[in-house]
Amino acid sequence: MRRPFVTVFSRTILISSFAAGVANGHDYVVRVDEPMQRLDVEARFDERVDRIAARSDDAGRYLISAYDCDTGQRLRSRGRRLVLPESGIDCLRYSVNLERAARDERRNSTLSSSNVIVSTAAWFWRPSLDDVESIRVQFDLASSIDVSIPWRPVEGESDVFELTTSPQSSTAPAVFGEFEYHEADIPGATLRVTVLNGEQPLDSAALVDWVAEAASQITLVYGEFPNPSPSVVLIPVGSRSWSDAPVPFGRVIRDGGETIELFINENRDIEDFYGHWTATHEFSHLMVPYITSRHRWVSEGLAQYYQNVLLARAGHQSERQAWQELYEGFERGRGSAVGRSPNDVANGSWRDGTMKVYWTGAVVALLGDVELRAGSDGQQSLDTVLRELWECCLPSDRTWSGPELYRQLDDIAGRPIFMPLYRRYANSTDFPDAMPTLARLGVKIENDRVRLTEDAELAEVRSAITRH
Ligand SMILES: [Zn+2]
Repeated sequence: MRRPFVTVFSRTILISSFAAGVANGHDYVVRVDEPMQRLDVEARFDERVDRIAARSDDAGRYLISAYDCDTGQRLRSRGRRLVLPESGIDCLRYSVNLERAARDERRNSTLSSSNVIVSTAAWFWRPSLDDVESIRVQFDLASSIDVSIPWRPVEGESDVFELTTSPQSSTAPAVFGEFEYHEADIPGATLRVTVLNGEQPLDSAALVDWVAEAASQITLVYGEFPNPSPSVVLIPVGSRSWSDAPVPFGRVIRDGGETIELFINENRDIEDFYGHWTATHEFSHLMVPYITSRHRWVSEGLAQYYQNVLLARAGHQSERQAWQELYEGFERGRGSAVGRSPNDVANGSWRDGTMKVYWTGAVVALLGDVELRAGSDGQQSLDTVLRELWECCLPSDRTWSGPELYRQLDDIAGRPIFMPLYRRYANSTDFPDAMPTLARLGVKIENDRVRLTEDAELAEVRSAITRH
C-alpha cells in the first residue's frame, strides 16, 4: 500500500540541511583516489591527543603508513591502536589500502565494482569522543566518486559529516563510488537512501518508494518516525541470494548515526516487497535505544511484536493473520532453548535459541501493551509510552540495558508494567504464557489456527492493537 504523504526526490550529490553546531571538535579531511585503491586522511585535533584507535582488529593490516604531520615522525600501529609519542600529537596523516579493505568486505561480493562498501572500522583511526563534542569529516572526492555514510550531514556543505558519540552496535558502512542516492520525506524524518549497484540494473526510484512506505509504517505508532535523519542502505544480492525472500536480511547499525541495512533480492517484483516483514522489523528497532546484547531479547521482541502489529495496521495483512503470526511465533519461542532463560540465551551461543530471543520479548510487549490499554480505559498503550520515550530519549547516544528500558517505560506509564514481567521471566526458564491474555482478547486457537471472536472481554483492546 502506498501512502500519499510520502514524497521522494533524487539527488546525485549530497546537499543537506540538517543542524550543524560544532562547538569544539576534531577536523578530518578524507581523499579517495580515482580508481578507489587508496584512501588518504589528514586529521587536525582540537587539542593534543595521546590515544588513537580504529574499531577493527584488521585496520592495522590496511594501514599503508601514518605520520605525525607536524614532526614528520612515522607512527606504527599495534593491533587496533596507533603508537603515539608520549606527549601526544596535534595532527595525523595516514593512508589506507582501500582496495584491500574492500576485497575483504563480504558485502561487496554481490556488488558491481563501480561501488564498494568499506566499513569505517577498517579505516577510520580516531581519538575517543570523551573530550570533544564531535569529529567533523570532510570528503574531498573526485567528481566520479560519491560517498554515503551514516554520520550526520553538516548543514549547507556538501560531503561534510559530523560524527558524535553513539552506541557501537556494529560497524558503520561507508560506500564509495557511483550509486544512487535519494532522500524521502516521511512524517518526522528525511530518509537518506543509498541504493547500491549490483549485477543488474535496478529501478531505484521504485525501491525508494517501497522503503519510504515501510518506514512510514512506524509512524502508525505515534505519528512520527523516531530518528529525523536515518541512513538506509539497500544492498542487492540478486542471484547470490541465499533465500527467495524479497528482503532476505536486514539489520540496524548504530555507529555514529543509525543505519538500516537491507539486503534485497532484486529479482523479485517490486510489489512483493510491500508487506514483507524485514524492513518493518528493522525500522521498528529505532523506537527504542540500542539495547546491550545481554538483553537483546528485549529489543528483538519489541521489533517482532510491532512488525506484525504494523503490517496489520498498514493493511498488508488482516487482523486475523497478524494474530496468527504472533501465536505461531510464541509457540516457536516456547519450543526454543527449553531449560534456558532469555538472558542466558541472548548472552551466549544464541544460535540455537534464536526463537527464544525473538519471541520472549514479543510476549512481554503484548502482555505489557494489553495491561496498559486495559488498565487505562484505552488512554495508555505501548504506543503512547513509546511516544514519550521518543520525546525524552531518542535517538540515544549510548547503550541501554533491558531493565533500564523497561524501567523507563514504567516511569512514563506511572505504574509497574514491564519491570514485574522482566523480574518474572528474564532469568527464568519458563516461557511467558500468552494464552490467558490471547483468550481475553478473543484470539481463539483451534488446531493451531487463530479465530477472532467479538464477544471476548478485551475484543476492543485487540482490535485497537491491530486495526487497519
Ligand atoms: Zn531485529
